[in-house]
Amino acid sequence: MNEELLTLQNLSKYYTSDRLVTVGLNSINLAFSRGEFVAVTGESGSGKSTLAHVLGGILPYEGGELLFKGKPTSHYDGADWERYRRDCVSFISQNYGILPGATVMDNVVSALRLTGISKAEAKSEAEKILREVELWELRSRRAAKLSSGQKQRLSIARALAKPAPILIADEPTGNLDAENSAKIISLLAKAARERLVILITHEFSEAENFVTRHISIHDGKVVMDSLLREPAAPEEPKAVPKRKSRGLFAYVAGLQLRSRPVWSALMLFFFTLTVFAVFSLAGTFISALDDTPTRLYDDSAFQNGDSQRIAVAKADGSDMTEKDEQTLLGVKYVESLESYGYLSDIKYAYREDVDYRWRYSLDTVSGKGPDGDYQRVSSVSFIQSEMPFAKTVPEFPDEREFLSDGRLPENMYEVVAAGDESLIGSSFPVFLQDGKNWSRSAYIYIEVTVVGVTDYGKGLYFHDDLGRVFLSDVEMFAKISSSSRRNYYYLYMPAPDLSGAEARLDKSTYEQIRSARNEDSFEFPMPRLDYLSNREKDVTLNFIGYHLSPFNGIIEVSPEKFAELGRSGKGGQISLTIEDYAYTDRVLNELTKLGYAAVSPYRECSTIQDPTLARQRMQTLRICAAALAVALVLQVVVQRAMFSLETESYLLMKNIGLDCKTARLSILCQVLFFALFGQVLGLLAILGFGAAGIESIGRLLRYLPASHMILLSLIHLGACCATALWIMNALQKQAYPNSGFVSDLDWSALDDEEAKQ
Ligand code: ADP
Ligand code: MG
Repeated sequence: MNEELLTLQNLSKYYTSDRLVTVGLNSINLAFSRGEFVAVTGESGSGKSTLAHVLGGILPYEGGELLFKGKPTSHYDGADWERYRRDCVSFISQNYGILPGATVMDNVVSALRLTGISKAEAKSEAEKILREVELWELRSRRAAKLSSGQKQRLSIARALAKPAPILIADEPTGNLDAENSAKIISLLAKAARERLVILITHEFSEAENFVTRHISIHDGKVVMDSLLREPAAPEEPKAVPKRKSRGLFAYVAGLQLRSRPVWSALMLFFFTLTVFAVFSLAGTFISALDDTPTRLYDDSAFQNGDSQRIAVAKADGSDMTEKDEQTLLGVKYVESLESYGYLSDIKYAYREDVDYRWRYSLDTVSGKGPDGDYQRVSSVSFIQSEMPFAKTVPEFPDEREFLSDGRLPENMYEVVAAGDESLIGSSFPVFLQDGKNWSRSAYIYIEVTVVGVTDYGKGLYFHDDLGRVFLSDVEMFAKISSSSRRNYYYLYMPAPDLSGAEARLDKSTYEQIRSARNEDSFEFPMPRLDYLSNREKDVTLNFIGYHLSPFNGIIEVSPEKFAELGRSGKGGQISLTIEDYAYTDRVLNELTKLGYAAVSPYRECSTIQDPTLARQRMQTLRICAAALAVALVLQVVVQRAMFSLETESYLLMKNIGLDCKTARLSILCQVLFFALFGQVLGLLAILGFGAAGIESIGRLLRYLPASHMILLSLIHLGACCATALWIMNALQKQAYPNSGFVSDLDWSALDDEEAKQ
């Protein structure tokens, strides 16, 4: 007698729906052995499929007992059934049960891989089987594109690939023509040489010449069981290969991704999009947390409120040294350093009609003067304020070329200007105004020559000598100025307030002014004022320019005198220019750590809140927070919905032996794949847009330090994993309703037995 594989003792199966109980199988007693080829027939609804599914371990049974190799299965838990489906049966279902999106090859390989066979082995085995069922030529075609005959052959190929002792086929020829049916039956007959084959069919005639036994059921009961021929002694079953199912989940995940290229691409696109949204929204949110831009700048402490400027002094008030400069240049995000930080608070103006405009009120008096008729302008309203700031030539931390042409200034009357080389050699007047220390309308006026040009920044870069002039102690020079005013022996002096100052206009300019549209005020270029040029070489204090009212002059001294009059060191304040305002906090923290006193003038002096801007900012914050929440929720919902499309293929794979744990892990694996690649692509997109000059996006990135980026990535990943858990649980509920994780049966005993035979 051949080995008895399946024994049914009074086995009953009921289908219970809401109120109805249908009997699927009614107290069946049967025994099947290896080598048998059994045909089960019966009319539609008689219970054939039910029997097949119960024997295949796909449906549970309620009454009696099913013995496998003489051992009862009624106490099997989920994990035991998983093992049974994986190792003991091959199941061919009526509707093929193949993975429609996967290729023919993948369908067979996956069945083999699920049993724990290694990749290489599975491939060579699959080739053998595909040649046998004549599908080798079509190996890379998607299963969905096969004809019904080919699909059924594929599902048989898959069943044959698995070295299970039992093969159950539920109406495999149902949709086939005679020729194809015959092929299928002969394949099954061949398979029966080494296993038990149970063929469910409604067309007994086509199997009649092959089967060894014919069972007929009716209303869930066996009504006939006849032996047609003695089964041959079964051939030696294929050796069961060693199981190495490690990494199987990754294979399943990969299979799922490959089987649905469009789905995968959409998912990747969607994840990329959410990452893009999450990062840009978070960047916007973080940048809007800073309310400085909603405040108006008050320039009474620092005239130059450039947002990229950081003013640094030694915390103990001592002078800056060369070493300090090196240290400060080494701080990350520092773009350049200006030794004379004070100078950055002094404005200059040049190109009289472009950068520097007086605005006079029209309160004029006309009269006759020694030079002819004139109009007296009684007061000055204000000066156009978009004047660049004076700076000394900056130092860069890297080897950057400051000059694009020309040379560096060698004295305080030579400058480097931002602009093109056509500027080199041009001279123009420069008006210096120290809003911090002088009256608002006090100016120093010098004439400078451009000796070099630069692409860096905007404005004029002076020689250090000019810096020293302003660095020099104001009080000291004020003293000099008040004591020696008549002798002009001073570097600069505060000018008297300009209100009430006189400026002469010629008649035609006045007419021009009168016809100007604005009746109350008007603009015109500031008249260029003469200055005394009285250079005398070899005089220690060399007077060069002075104009009585309304301007003050400055005097030129030798560099040695500058050094003598000014401080010996480099003074107390340095101005750093950082790459972007977004880095302000990071740079300030670093400077504080290094022991410096540092402020962002822009931030410190932006004081009065603009209610409209403040409202806009709050709105931005709210919108960003809401949009972030929406993006994350959308991500969860779409992810869940998209993954539910995979459920069917998981059910199919479950039927051929995919266990619950691997199924769950493979989902996690796919989600991680999308999340991580989405993050990479999303970030690349942001970086790409930033690099492509879309400033609004490049800006956001600068507000996200690495730590924030990592945190955001983790939050995104966390959301993905939480959703994955949700999807995994839903799948488990659907496909593995009573799954345990660990089989507590002694399967090894069974394996040993198998090995013995
Ligand atoms: P066959 O395959 O021989 O056509 P089935 O095994 O599919 O028969 O069905 C046997 C009986 O069980 C039928 O009365 C059918 O209506 C019932 N049945 C099958 N599947 C279900 C189900 N999922 N729920 C309820 N009743 C079912
Ligand atoms: Mg059926």
